[in-house]
Amino acid sequence: MNLADMIEGHVDDRVALISRNRETTYGELRDQVARLRGGLSSAGVGQGDRVAIMCGNNRYFVITYLATIGIGAVAVPLNPASPAHELEDQLATVEPTTVVVGPTAMNSWARVDRSMIPCVERVVIAEGEPDGDVLTIADLLRSDPAPLVDVEPDHLAVLIFTSGTAGRSKAAMLSHGNLASNIEQGSTVTDRTRAGDVVYSVLPMFHIFGLNVALGVSLSVGATVLLVQRFDPATAVQSIVQRQVTVVPGAPPMWIAFSHFDELPPDAFASVRLPLSGASRLAPAVADRMEEKFGLTILEGYGLTEASPVVTNSIESGRRAGSVGRVLGTQEVRLVDDDGNDVPVGDAGEIRIKGPNVFLGYWNDQEATDRVLVDGWLHTGDVGVVDDEGFLYLVDRAKDLIIVSGFNVFPAEVEEVLASHPAVAEAGVLGVPHPHDGEAVKAYVVLADGASADEDQLVEHCLDYMARYKCPSKIVFVDELPRNPAGKLMRRELEGTILA
Ligand code: ATP
Repeated sequence: MNLADMIEGHVDDRVALISRNRETTYGELRDQVARLRGGLSSAGVGQGDRVAIMCGNNRYFVITYLATIGIGAVAVPLNPASPAHELEDQLATVEPTTVVVGPTAMNSWARVDRSMIPCVERVVIAEGEPDGDVLTIADLLRSDPAPLVDVEPDHLAVLIFTSGTAGRSKAAMLSHGNLASNIEQGSTVTDRTRAGDVVYSVLPMFHIFGLNVALGVSLSVGATVLLVQRFDPATAVQSIVQRQVTVVPGAPPMWIAFSHFDELPPDAFASVRLPLSGASRLAPAVADRMEEKFGLTILEGYGLTEASPVVTNSIESGRRAGSVGRVLGTQEVRLVDDDGNDVPVGDAGEIRIKGPNVFLGYWNDQEATDRVLVDGWLHTGDVGVVDDEGFLYLVDRAKDLIIVSGFNVFPAEVEEVLASHPAVAEAGVLGVPHPHDGEAVKAYVVLADGASADEDQLVEHCLDYMARYKCPSKIVFVDELPRNPAGKLMRRELEGTILA
């Protein structure tokens, strides 16, 4: 098998990619990927070699990714906008022999100290002139095509860094079998992405949701992937209408932006069949607004890098407010208490997962691997509740639990109540040390455009919905919440946010 097989078998003249308005058909894509396989192999890239790919969401990323895994090498997608010291760290961790630098990454790459990464034998730039050990993709594409290499399902395909929400980000090892099985697990879902769909693909490809859902699922069914570098709601809607987009894999910041964007006509999303949300909690109030304003039902899902990533989604079941849907495919999911015993239906417990999509472990970090991978079960650190119809409701990350005078407060609940106030666009909550109570609840709030509310009004609103100990003791108004490029709220960074 080989995961890169995903582009085989689709009609030659169907459009596979649209990147900067340039269309690439499946026939052309297959030809370019086969030539790049040849180019990388003759340049000396071998099986198991790591190839770091620092590209935005563009054609270069896609052909390099598919060619790399196609020859049995390991793709390491990196954020091209990361500061140099972070890139040096990540590169030193995974020790690539080859670095591929896309147009948007040239500046970051120029600042990387090459002496920190002596492992790098060659650099391939997407655009520009070859020079010394610097090759160009155009050059490599002049090579003769090379065949796909057959690999075992547990052959390493991708090293992908987790978001670092709960600590230092780690390089998760995902095999060909892991990624292919998660794509396959969705194949029984009737309304899934299919050939003929146009997929708006702005989620970054260096995050697993962009890589294996927006890209992987779409290419494997022969859909058209519209590659977008940067999100802004006005141009997004223009492209959605112009390209008759049918699938929008998204994250909460996108839906928040659309839901507050007043100039949009009610039929702005008329072509969209599957509006998806994952990576971070979508406040039900935002989903409600999208339904009221545009008749669009956002389908929420849950996943994590270590599960390649999708664990649950709502595509088959439809939206159930507050739920992330039902388990996808044949994955086994358990909810357990602190002693590892299954909790009764309706009770909260840590989510544990078993299945062919569960990763191989963290690169060069056996200790971290042993903490989350026990007897084949992935310990997610997420707390959830399953109802008697199998719908999963996420409570929060166990690590983010705030303990106020011995009482448990999950920040997500407080964020949700705050976000249900009409003047609030979004909220982020964390625990801060408190001299008497151990911890106190502190909230950071972004007000909706043109709206006003003060701390007292918001606390009063919270008291209408929650016990007093859960209500914020301090509310700070800010311009925006810290989110990573995949749209994930970075609670750890809230304390450094800019005051409004
Ligand atoms: P790190 O492991 O480095 O702290 P991370 O866990 O944020 O980073 P990812 O794999 O990108 O890295 O994110 C997975 C996590 O995102 C899940 O474990 C869960 O906490 C959260 N998540 C995913 N989908 C949702 C969702 N629909 N609602 C709320 N949280 C979600």
